[in-house]
Amino acid sequence: MDNREPEPMQKEEAQVLLDIGDDVTQEVIRARSMYPKFSCLHEALAVLWEEFEELKLEVFKKNASPDKLHDEAIQVAAMAVRLIQDCCIKGEEKDDDKSN
Ligand SMILES: [Mg+2]
Repeated sequence: MDNREPEPMQKEEAQVLLDIGDDVTQEVIRARSMYPKFSCLHEALAVLWEEFEELKLEVFKKNASPDKLHDEAIQVAAMAVRLIQDCCIKGEEKDDDKSN
């Protein structure tokens, strides 16, 4: 049984979180410089899924590299951010995505 309890985030952990956010932002910017915006949720989900599969492969490696795990996880997060940014900003309804 898991007896861990939640606890408030400490300053050092919060800084790590901010650094991760910066890494995700840089990956979103890098990806947008290489690829157009997602045209629909299905395209976004396919790319996110592809990145998830790459992360999964890394996680199941016998001696997974922490740096590679970090990079793959950042790419998953970045594609999730792009899905939000391109396809589902709160309060916005895209005409071509009404069926999703
Ligand atoms: Mg990847």
